[in-house]
Amino acid sequence: MAFISKEMIDEIKNKNDIVDVIGSYITLNDKNKALCPFHDDHTPSFSIQSDKQIYKCFSCGESGNVITFVQKYNNISFIESLKILSDRAGIKLDVQIPKKRNIEYDNYYEINDTVNRYFKNNLNSTSGKYAMKYLLDRNISKELIKEFSLGLSTSNNLSILLSKKYNMDLLTELDIVKEINGKYYDTFQSRIIFPIFDEENNVIGFSGRKYLSDDLKDETQPKYSNTKETKLFIKSSILYNINNALPFIKKKHEIIITEGFMDTIRISSIGYKNVIALMGTAFTKDHLEKIIKMKCKVVLNLDQDNAGVLSTISIGEELVKNNIETSVIIFDDFKDSDDFINKKGKESFDIAYNNKISFIDFKLKHLRSDKNMKDSVDISKFINEAIESLNMIDDDVLKELKTKELAKEFDIDESVIKNKLKGTKSIEKPIIKQEEVKRYNKYDISEIRILYLMINYDDVILYFENSLGYLIHDNMSQLAYKIIEFRNDYGYFNYSDFIDYISDAEELNKTLKEVMKYHHNEEYTLDELEDYINTVKEFSIKRRIESLKREMNSTLDINKKIEIAKKIENINKEVLKW
Ligand SMILES: [Zn+2]
Repeated sequence: MAFISKEMIDEIKNKNDIVDVIGSYITLNDKNKALCPFHDDHTPSFSIQSDKQIYKCFSCGESGNVITFVQKYNNISFIESLKILSDRAGIKLDVQIPKKRNIEYDNYYEINDTVNRYFKNNLNSTSGKYAMKYLLDRNISKELIKEFSLGLSTSNNLSILLSKKYNMDLLTELDIVKEINGKYYDTFQSRIIFPIFDEENNVIGFSGRKYLSDDLKDETQPKYSNTKETKLFIKSSILYNINNALPFIKKKHEIIITEGFMDTIRISSIGYKNVIALMGTAFTKDHLEKIIKMKCKVVLNLDQDNAGVLSTISIGEELVKNNIETSVIIFDDFKDSDDFINKKGKESFDIAYNNKISFIDFKLKHLRSDKNMKDSVDISKFINEAIESLNMIDDDVLKELKTKELAKEFDIDESVIKNKLKGTKSIEKPIIKQEEVKRYNKYDISEIRILYLMINYDDVILYFENSLGYLIHDNMSQLAYKIIEFRNDYGYFNYSDFIDYISDAEELNKTLKEVMKYHHNEEYTLDELEDYINTVKEFSIKRRIESLKREMNSTLDINKKIEIAKKIENINKEVLKW
């Protein structure tokens, strides 16, 4: 941090209004309040004070300025946060951000990046004329082509071009070229290219789609062909479009999962930016783990054909078993959302999205589909399968509701169903540690209030220095000294700057958090402040007297005892004076 001047940090802060920046990450109400992104919040406890350019959460105590917000929200370093904000404001900040990605792979990334640029150029050149027309005819606009970095592989000239610059073994390893009998061929030939990125926006592989009419007729070649498994391209963990979608997923706490690139591009184009596609329909453990980490709800929107329904069921089951709230978008008579949106438009998709049903309802609907619901054998089979499905979920309320519905529909006793339902699985539930509710006594409250008022009112800093100068607990005293130190260094006190000043001091940050967490009244009176000061003094006097009394009890020397008693008497006299 030392090599970035305070002036620079100030400039970055001045040009990034905290309300604008935070508003681009989370949804704010008109009072600049929001659900806190740093704890499981159900009422808006998070609030921004635009005049002071700070934020704080009254519930979990998180507080800070625009830089710390971006830092904590994205879980990145202070410097990385500064870089994001300076880029945002168009300020040139010359810092090297250490890349998270594996340095060992830098070569690979560079090659993929070069290849990707080459593909993009092709599509925009004269050799891309037909491919461009094909895309525009499919209602993929130039803006979308740019947004999703679509490109084009032409016929076998990439390998020749790259051989001048790169080692062919590396290119083969990345599946950019294939070696057949000592000769190299482009892996992708005459295909529209969908580059695939990881979360950090690195190109990790490609998918090529046939587009020439002769190729489309040839059924021996697949419609899409992908980079084979490489060190970068690990199919079991890829989520197409995650590079663009991630900030929107975090903001909306929701991810829409589709089956195809076109569906993802289409849904994104009408404003649902939190959308990704699986590579094929396989949903793996890696995918599941990634989604669990994102802490979001899932909306499934796979193809509406039989295969799609079966995938929806198997993916949905994995999700609900892991307590992930899952719902399903349905549209009859259309194969997929690309087709649906192209023919029926955004409004119809909005309606389908708003009418999405819970996964359990989708499953029950599916279980009915192959049964004759007038036949008692089928009904019995259905009810047993329904119970099996209900046993996957962990939501007791939902279980109860569905039990009642089933019992009513088929006129059977609820207890019949309930007996077959597993008990609540509360023990298996992840135990979210409830923040301990700390009980404060009057001494704790006094020092917490004094610190809070020092942070907010310059006068209180001076008053504290002259009338008290210490607090009860060491950590609280340390924070007070630091506030005074900052004020002496800069000639003023400003909370937003103070946060940067102590950004490396873990203990101070912890104490600050505790101070902020208390439910403070913004206003104060001088009487109130004096009360706090006297309470702190009273505590230290009590402590002093107690220590003297212990000393008196431990000595047998009568003169010493008298001497100590006098001391105690003097202290008590002092106290009476104020
Ligand atoms: Zn919070």
